[in-house]
Amino acid sequence: MKSLSLGPFLVASAPVGSRDFAITRQCFPKQLHFNSHSVVSSSYLRRCYATLSVVPELQEKEVFDGEKASLLVKELRKSFDLGRTKSYEWRVSQLEGIAKMLEEKEKEIAEALYKDLSKPALEAFISEFSQVKGSCSEALQELKQWMKPEKVNTSITTYPSSAEIVSEPLGVVLVISTWNFPFLLSMDPVIGAISAGNAVVLKPSEIAPATSSLLANLLKDYLDNSAIRVVEGAVHETTALLEQKWDKILYTGSARVGRIVMAAAAKHLTPVVLELGGKCPAVVDSDINLQVAARRIIGGKWACNSGQACISVDYIITTKEFAPKLINALKEELEQCFGKDPIESKDMSRIVSPAQFTRLAKLLDEVSDKIVLGGQKDEKKLKIAPTIVLDVPQEAMVMQEEIFGPIMPIITVDNIKDSFSIIKSKPKPLAAYLFTNNEQLKKDYVENISSGGMLINDTVLHVATRGLPFGGIEESGMGSYHGKFSFDTFSHKKSILYRGFEADTSLRYPPYTPKKEKLLKAIINGNIFGAILILIGWS
Ligand code: NAD
Repeated sequence: MKSLSLGPFLVASAPVGSRDFAITRQCFPKQLHFNSHSVVSSSYLRRCYATLSVVPELQEKEVFDGEKASLLVKELRKSFDLGRTKSYEWRVSQLEGIAKMLEEKEKEIAEALYKDLSKPALEAFISEFSQVKGSCSEALQELKQWMKPEKVNTSITTYPSSAEIVSEPLGVVLVISTWNFPFLLSMDPVIGAISAGNAVVLKPSEIAPATSSLLANLLKDYLDNSAIRVVEGAVHETTALLEQKWDKILYTGSARVGRIVMAAAAKHLTPVVLELGGKCPAVVDSDINLQVAARRIIGGKWACNSGQACISVDYIITTKEFAPKLINALKEELEQCFGKDPIESKDMSRIVSPAQFTRLAKLLDEVSDKIVLGGQKDEKKLKIAPTIVLDVPQEAMVMQEEIFGPIMPIITVDNIKDSFSIIKSKPKPLAAYLFTNNEQLKKDYVENISSGGMLINDTVLHVATRGLPFGGIEESGMGSYHGKFSFDTFSHKKSILYRGFEADTSLRYPPYTPKKEKLLKAIINGNIFGAILILIGWS
């Protein structure tokens, strides 16, 4: 539900689609308006509340269609073509705008995240706010260095010459974001796009409406609207945006929609970064510090947006022998974290929507006889207790699709190395975790398991490690970003060779003589001594 615009002229309000709403619309067609600072479509409005104002000049907001999207891109392209976004000064001014916004609006951001996901304030601070702040500070600190052309060595073939790689902005880029970390996954790519000197349109997720609306308002207030815009909306609006020609699209979300994005981009040969998900495994060996491992698994599952995270541990593989110890440790530590009745815990995010709740409930119902911990659900509160299911069949939905919620299957094997074939039987994950003290196992895991990222003896922290690119492989995505990698992702690396007019040898031009051929071959092969012999006529 979208928040209401309760101005001083408000006289009535009614849920969109209700009988009251229909009557109101009939009586006051011109005065009906919706609280959205961006253009929205009728499908989007169905989930909103409408407010009735007696102010005659207020009009119903226009639908955001292909025509509007085309005008928007034209406007932004004009700004880009005028060179507005290219200078170091503009980039810094926008990054400073973001820094100011973070300083002044921390409370509003936390509130929006609470509205959308009941995200605990501390989780919101650690996993969203501080990450964005860190990215912004890093960009401000490093931008000059990132923008510097990179000198490259040249060879004898082009002597005398010099070469460099210049990072140039791509143009007008589109960022389509998702709902689970709706602030971070919107702002982080936008910081990269701005740092690289692009104009950018952000389309936040309609499934996190409070954060989407806040982003629309904040970016309007704090950033240069001639080059940075937010379009709110759902499938209709995203489709209108995807019809346009962009210079890059960074999409975060499911692989299903990733395919739609890539197909739309292919029409214009637009490059894409797809930040998708998948089933991230955690292999747990027996020679570990069990309490620390259990806590870290909880940190990367239930204390991470209730498992609604792309890099959350999706399932555990351990040995038959060790499984009871691991389950006990998880049970004890979960109780420490969320108390005896986790549904009531204020420290656990809720499931984002009734649709997601129903999906998770269905996954769980299919394997209800395998529950060894948890299983409680509260549909009203949209909460599911941390739940462990043991040795569910591989064909069960919970092992076939990404769980994206607080259900954790534990699969047991005879030998820990048997975990490799289970992981390999599934699409390559976004993250793969291993808990062990066995150096050989670590080495084998790194060598044999292909995944977007990997973390040994912890969960999720690799995404917060500056200097590591973040991205998937195959079904879990393509391309990467974070820090300097974001800058690179939104830049074109232009190769430049500089030459003067001196040393213009006739060797490379026809007529081609046997002597020229010999000499050129000697030079290209790096045989300088041979070249000298040819030149002085000794060869
Ligand atoms: P979502 O429903 O919010 O969709 C993401 C975006 O796609 C939204 O902006 C939405 O408006 C748009 N969209 C949805 N359907 C569309 C359509 N038919 N055409 C055009 N646009 C459309 O999010 P989701 O897909 O439920 O996200 C969950 C998935 O995202 C999970 O698989 C998760 O692993 C993945 N994810 C990945 C990352 C990452 O960084 N790799 C981060 C978070 C989530």
